[in-house]
Amino acid sequence: MTELTDFQKKITLSLPEVTIFIQEPLAKHTSLRIGGAAEAMAFPADDAQLSRLLAFARQEGAPVRILGAGTNVLAPDEGIKGLVVCLKDCLEGMELLDETTLRIAAGVTMTRAAVFAAKNGLSGLEFAHGIPGTVGGGVYMNAGAYGGEISAVCKAVRVMAMDGSVRELSGSEMGFSYRHSRLEEEGGIVLSADFALTPADPEDIRATMRTLQQKRSASQPLDMPSAGSAFKRPVGGYAAALIDQAGLKGFRVGDAAISTKHAGFAVNLGASSAEDFKALLRQVSDMVFQNSGIRLEPEVRIWEQK
Ligand SMILES: Cc1cc2nc3c(=O)[nH]c(=O)nc-3n(C[C@H](O)[C@H](O)[C@H](O)COP(=O)(O)OP(=O)(O)OC[C@H]3O[C@@H](n4cnc5c(N)ncnc54)[C@H](O)[C@@H]3O)c2cc1C
Repeated sequence: MTELTDFQKKITLSLPEVTIFIQEPLAKHTSLRIGGAAEAMAFPADDAQLSRLLAFARQEGAPVRILGAGTNVLAPDEGIKGLVVCLKDCLEGMELLDETTLRIAAGVTMTRAAVFAAKNGLSGLEFAHGIPGTVGGGVYMNAGAYGGEISAVCKAVRVMAMDGSVRELSGSEMGFSYRHSRLEEEGGIVLSADFALTPADPEDIRATMRTLQQKRSASQPLDMPSAGSAFKRPVGGYAAALIDQAGLKGFRVGDAAISTKHAGFAVNLGASSAEDFKALLRQVSDMVFQNSGIRLEPEVRIWEQK
């Protein structure tokens, strides 16, 4: 075993109450199963632990990355220096604030949030059932599917800034646009989100969720490591159709490949590196551009060593 860095020694000594893994492979925490080790990966049990982690990293001058369920992140082969804070299943809690408003903590998966809404006879989160990320990641990305989007139901978000201060932003203050929120430019960590929903029959809600899940299973390569849609939907077309028209289903760079089932998905066939995956995205984007004149941009968040 290689010797611990100063940062690794100090963080475990300074924050013994927080679960912290040293040299933790990011491939274990990303749905693409790609990525080297995080120097330290922390799993805060609550907002207070998160705030202490941020203060420690600030004091040490260490870079901080936030990870939800890792279902939209391509992590670098060489790993990440500093601290990765993983919130999935850490910041927990779902509550009914009033008859039609739910508060869901950032670490809860969107599928669990949708099931909770259905149980309470509240419609509006059916689209989120089957998106494998967390509520925090979903808010950050303004996740959406089948005509639904986080921005349409998000009433307010509690956000922790990197200095540990917490404020509440209304849905309209979040700067939502297609697969984007203002947090991408400003930073800040989603602690929880309030969703304004509509009363409906739980059975109807469940039936809609079942139908959407069947559509997903029929069309998407859910049995293979991926990050969902590899590219954003471009103006003037659909990424999957453009990739298909360019004859790129099954196209490979090493073990990174365009799915043969759904051309919008790029998958890891087993041993893809981040470099192969990035090369695949670049080459596909270039070939689609040559074929259609439309430039595809990655939807997956590509992490680089800071
Ligand atoms: C099989 C499959 C199907 C998918 N289908 C869809 C779909 O239909 N629609 C869709 O929109 N997406 C889809 N995705 C992509 C992905 O699930 C979503 O983008 C999801 O919102 C990402 O959430 P996450 O928790 O996994 O975020 P991560 O992948 O962990 O992180 C994504 C980004 O969000 C940031 N982030 C995460 N949590 C927080 C937080 N609490 N505060 C601040 N920033 C945070 C991270 O730093 C990172 O930049 C799919 C992915 C897969 C693998």
